[in-house]
Amino acid sequence: MRPSTIAIDGPAASGKSTIGYHLAQYLSYLYLDTGVLYRAVTWAALARQIPIEDEGAITRLSEYLPIDVLPSTHPDGRQYTVQIEDADITWAIRTPEVDRAVSPVSAYPGVRDALTRQMRQIAARGHVVMVGRDIGTVVIPDADLKLYVVASAEERAHRRHLDMQRQGKAISYNEVLAVIRRRDQIDSSRETAPLQAAHDAILLDTTQLNMAEMFAKVEWLVNGYS
Ligand code: C5P
Repeated sequence: MRPSTIAIDGPAASGKSTIGYHLAQYLSYLYLDTGVLYRAVTWAALARQIPIEDEGAITRLSEYLPIDVLPSTHPDGRQYTVQIEDADITWAIRTPEVDRAVSPVSAYPGVRDALTRQMRQIAARGHVVMVGRDIGTVVIPDADLKLYVVASAEERAHRRHLDMQRQGKAISYNEVLAVIRRRDQIDSSRETAPLQAAHDAILLDTTQLNMAEMFAKVEWLVNGYS
């Protein structure tokens, strides 16, 4: 039988979102990239000029902010549409400012509690591919299939830099590599739900794999071979 709940974790730009989105389409499941929830809270804090160090104010914001993740509404390369009160923030949550502030925000335990609750409600319905940092360890520890996707920091920076160049953003490879390393460090060392592989996750290293190879490998896994 195919897995109904699939948890995919790994560091930034490891290929986990590409794999997750592909699997969701392949299986006709719901796709939820949970990083967008942390990014939406971060974007809203910056937009309201709440200092990123103000844990209390940001935690309250995460508890009432109405974040909607909907099927894509525009054919502009997006996998889904993210909205807050009817404002489309799909691309606004991908700026270098949000990249820099999102890891400190997601280290606040109250923020994690509020967003984890929303994720579990979605996971409880099944037929879902959920992608993040702590999905297999904390959010759905009883997921039917867990993948932990990794790639070297240099390869991940190279992929992210290409994405940003395509979007016309002027940022150097070295800056992208520095932000990735900093986020890895904060995400892996935070006390609440640090980035780590679940003991029963299947490790997938994508450093040397192209897209077709990644897809073939994960299709093989969901079809029950391992
Ligand atoms: O995956 P993405 O890069 O969009 O995630 C943005 C940030 O959100 C991560 O660097 C991490 O700090 C946080 N995050 C998390 N737990 C998740 C998903 C994302 O802490 N389940």
